[in-house]
Amino acid sequence: MLEDVKRVILVLSGKGGVGKSTVSTQLALTLKEHGFKVGLLDVDLCGPSVPYLLNLENHSVHQGPEGWIPVYLDTEQKLGVMSIGFLLSSRNDAVVWRGPKKTSMIKQFLEDVCWQELDFLVIDTPPGTSDEHITVMENLRQVPQCSAILVTTPQEVAIEDVRKEITFCRKTGIPIMGIIENMSGYECPVCSECTNIFSSGGGKSLAEIAKIPFLGSLPIDPRVGKLAGQGVAAVKEIPNSNTSKVFSELVKHL
Ligand code: ADP
Repeated sequence: MLEDVKRVILVLSGKGGVGKSTVSTQLALTLKEHGFKVGLLDVDLCGPSVPYLLNLENHSVHQGPEGWIPVYLDTEQKLGVMSIGFLLSSRNDAVVWRGPKKTSMIKQFLEDVCWQELDFLVIDTPPGTSDEHITVMENLRQVPQCSAILVTTPQEVAIEDVRKEITFCRKTGIPIMGIIENMSGYECPVCSECTNIFSSGGGKSLAEIAKIPFLGSLPIDPRVGKLAGQGVAAVKEIPNSNTSKVFSELVKHL
């Protein structure tokens, strides 16, 4: 239940495929590594990738006397996860729902999951600003500490869409923690040299223009791609990588 949650972090992006779920899962895993009790709620109903990214695909949620019991990544129950992916019989099942049905599912996710006491609830949202986002915002009013991280890639098209996310956050009154630029250059796993494949720095300059904090650049790192599907934190597996540094810094300032 949300009253058991101290702090909510929404992860938003203008476009799909920019690494929003990767940021959500790595943030949740990093917080867990730092000893926090964390929940990760995947409200991307049409493209739930959190169960896959955390290697929890064959799990399902159970209904307890007080509500849904999340799926736990670890036996100490430091990281609990809720996703529609756990309610589908196959990863290939499509959720073909109109707005009202999506809205009621998200309300249930926000009201009926027994998280127990959480330091952080990270919410992975669908790309854009849709019904799902409005429902989440409306239901988060009761959480005193709630803020958003915006994820973008360096290309101008992705940056343009982040401007819309900024407007959305400002209109709905949710404080923006900052912008993360993902896939910002390629980091060679052997020599750690970073090559800018696309343009770079777009996220940083947008942050400056919009007067919001820039939280760091995550390079394209094949090791990060490999961590997807393993449920392992970059800070644990590849501690010297730039990815790991960005997440460690981020968590230090929360
Ligand atoms: P979104 O949630 O925005 O749709 P994902 O987090 O699912 O995006 O990422 C899309 C794909 O890109 C996934 O296969 C993921 O493993 C990969 N990916 C994301 N960020 C990185 C990165 N920094 N380095 C390498 N692969 C990445």
